Amino acid sequence: MSAVFDDLAADDPRHGRNSTYCNHGCRCDACRAANSEYRRAWRRRGGRDLERRVKLERAAALAVLRDRHYAEYREILTAVRAGEVVDS
Ligand SMILES: [Zn+2]
Repeated sequence: MSAVFDDLAADDPRHGRNSTYCNHGCRCDACRAANSEYRRAWRRRGGRDLERRVKLERAAALAVLRDRHYAEYREILTAVRAGEVVDS
């Protein structure tokens, strides 16, 4: 897990990124601006409603896979648990 409220040096190249705002808890002007821009873009894409829809779609797709293609579902599950499938 990432450290929160790290004290990054003022000249650290990671300032000005949303990830630094989130993972390091940096609230400098550059990181706050990056977070604002990230949130603006997130809202433009659909924000919370889009996240909810994507979550429902994934759950529905997973249910279809599990219920209609159980053998493949088990194979995928086994591969993931064995570390053979990683998030890209
Ligand atoms: Zn910063």
